[in-house]
Amino acid sequence: MIADVNTEFGFELQVCQWAEAHWPPDGEGGPVVVARQLGTKRRRWDTVVIECDPAALSARAAFGTQALDSDLLHVVQNAPAEWAWYRDALPDPGYPWRYVRQAVHRAADRGIIERRRDGGRIQLRRKWPYPDWVERIVAVENKPDLDASAARDLAPQLERDVALGLADEVWVATSETDEPVEPVLLEDIPVEAGVLTVERGRRGESAVEATWQPRALDPTAPGTRILDRPAGGEFDDSACQFEVADTAWKATKRLEIAERAYERGWRSYVDSMRPDCRHFAFEATPAVARPFCEAKDCNQTQRECAGSCPKFEPEPPAWRQRGWPIEGGPGKAIKRLLDRGRQRHRPSE
Ligand code: SF4
Repeated sequence: MIADVNTEFGFELQVCQWAEAHWPPDGEGGPVVVARQLGTKRRRWDTVVIECDPAALSARAAFGTQALDSDLLHVVQNAPAEWAWYRDALPDPGYPWRYVRQAVHRAADRGIIERRRDGGRIQLRRKWPYPDWVERIVAVENKPDLDASAARDLAPQLERDVALGLADEVWVATSETDEPVEPVLLEDIPVEAGVLTVERGRRGESAVEATWQPRALDPTAPGTRILDRPAGGEFDDSACQFEVADTAWKATKRLEIAERAYERGWRSYVDSMRPDCRHFAFEATPAVARPFCEAKDCNQTQRECAGSCPKFEPEPPAWRQRGWPIEGGPGKAIKRLLDRGRQRHRPSE
């Protein structure tokens, strides 16, 4: 069956697969961690590429495959080399110490710091320094069919990304056309955003081309968070509302995003689908391997492949007999296959 990458979901998987294998678009690069649908409370990027320091990425593996949230990061980044009372060792968090104490216990339970009680006081000691593994964060917005109206919707989001400068670069990925000048270049999107044109249904380095280079943003400088902007026009003279995003917030947020990307990768979509359905299959299309529904005879999306799907049927028990319930049936095998792919791109020590 010819690859169906007409949907945003399929397009997004194709972009993720390509980025994992070939990032950056022009030239040699180090290891990357690629994830989907990550960002802040206000803004979710379609594809996130974390460019990593190779040695530090390997060292990160000692902290386990689960993401470290901001509380755990506070602990592991500041844990001392020698035993110390946690209130002496860690900087004042700006919120009650009891939350820090809970985070110390969580970190110790996960085996990423050492903890002991000394005269009623909780002491901690680091096992390993937390490595500086994130070099750059790249955000990609996937719009396979970027017509004028899609560009009008996308432009304000990109302007917000550029003003905030949380990522180091912002790109738009769109389908390649036969036009002499790619139509996306004629649309009114910010010049700071790069453009990737994607040949649908194909994989390999040359399947994606950078047709416009982005301007590097500065995540180490304060950013501007645009909260509201006037629509403009004759009857709208309201003021733009914004607030400043300070550098400490940006640094923390970037690391949280990177940590979540590290845990999830881009194959985690299967966690919210129904691989335990008897119709769930996996199709190796030319562009990217992706789920296929044998009942609907199409590449299903995450949204439709859910518990509410009217065609859902559980795997027959006979499929699960070998090794059941530990190994499970074909659905579990697909999950294991995707997990192995995720693990390959998360080097261990
Ligand atoms: S029938 Fe529904 S739940 Fe089963 S694989 Fe197809 S879309 Fe998913």
